[in-house]
Amino acid sequence: MNIHEYQAKQMMDRYGIPVPEGYPADNIEEVEQIMDLHFPDGKIVVKAQIHSGGRGKAGGVILANTKEEAIEAARKLFGKTLVTKQTGPQGKLVRKVYIEKQSQIEREIYLSLLIDTNVGRHTFVACGEGGTSIEELAETAPEKIIKETIDPSVGFCKDTATNIAERLELNDTNSAELTDILSHMYEMFIQEDCTLIEINPLAICNGHLMALDAKVTLDSDAMFRHKENLELQDLNEEDPLELEASAFGMNYVSLSGNIGCICNGAGLGMSSMDTIYHYGGKPANFMDTGGTITVDKAYKAFEIVSRGENVKGIIVNIFGGIARTDLIAEGIVKAMDELNYEKPVVVRIEGNRAETAHETLKNARIPVILAENCSDAVKKMLKKLEED
Ligand code: GDP
Ligand code: MN
Repeated sequence: MNIHEYQAKQMMDRYGIPVPEGYPADNIEEVEQIMDLHFPDGKIVVKAQIHSGGRGKAGGVILANTKEEAIEAARKLFGKTLVTKQTGPQGKLVRKVYIEKQSQIEREIYLSLLIDTNVGRHTFVACGEGGTSIEELAETAPEKIIKETIDPSVGFCKDTATNIAERLELNDTNSAELTDILSHMYEMFIQEDCTLIEINPLAICNGHLMALDAKVTLDSDAMFRHKENLELQDLNEEDPLELEASAFGMNYVSLSGNIGCICNGAGLGMSSMDTIYHYGGKPANFMDTGGTITVDKAYKAFEIVSRGENVKGIIVNIFGGIARTDLIAEGIVKAMDELNYEKPVVVRIEGNRAETAHETLKNARIPVILAENCSDAVKKMLKKLEED
């Protein structure tokens, strides 16, 4: 689960990571109040709060030196659709801004903590040249990226920090500050079940380290341990179809192709998508219905997938172990019937009660194309799409 920069900074502040003073605002009146109350000198930064990086280059981070400039900057941002490197061409609507004390930056450093799945360990990633072009640097000069893993049986130790500080060529003051920041990041990562804490830039301002930007993602699967963090979710930022699916206990992911995909199980979903790519197609989305599935759930799965952007046809790939495939077939036929669905639907169903499922599909009012296996399903779909 992603959260906003201002929420990430509030969390980091609680763990003792230095962040500039700042306040979120939903409208111009709030911006005015914040300026009067907290920033009488007017020197602030107005930052668009959307779930995306690359805001600086897209005009989403504006420096202001007076209250008037601050209000003008906020006016520009509220209601604007920001298109960044990370949002895709449709961009993201700005509904909230963060008003933050302006810092004088002497140097920008990149710092993050994540789980490196190659080694299965918490890993700090740092780079002496942080800021807005870190992705390019990772490609052009990968030797400049510093990585330090944490041994889980030892936990965070000072040597890790000293190594990173040395390679960043920090002075003694900043090196000691970095040690604190890293240990607090590690503590927060564990306590809050994070999957990423990214500070870019970690800046030197007036000789001291300060987190000027923050990206934190929380492990959705661990959210049951952090009911209070669930409130940090901004529903405006989530894919509405994904939310609808999750209300039914299903996982939905939007992609950029044109073939809708319904599977039971994430593994089957992945391999189905690989197969689609293998034959030169592109999935538009994919729905993992999960283990137990009723007629209603199958209906809903079909309905959501059919509403996905650019869906020109739907592949259903089901292997019934615990799942009753006859119920799935019933749900799909019902959905196609009621939605009057006329685009091609290719179904591969095997396993538990598959004969009944096939009967149901064959007798449907709107014809379904049956497939022997996953490759067959994909080939049939691609052929159909070519014809249309
Ligand atoms: P991002 O582009 O979405 O990653 O947003 P950031 O919060 O990282 O801001 C982009 C850039 O704006 C930073 O890399 C800084 O160079 C600059 N910036 C952000 N806050 C301040 C500030 O307080 N003072 C100055 N001078 N620059 C800032
Ligand atoms: Mn940044």
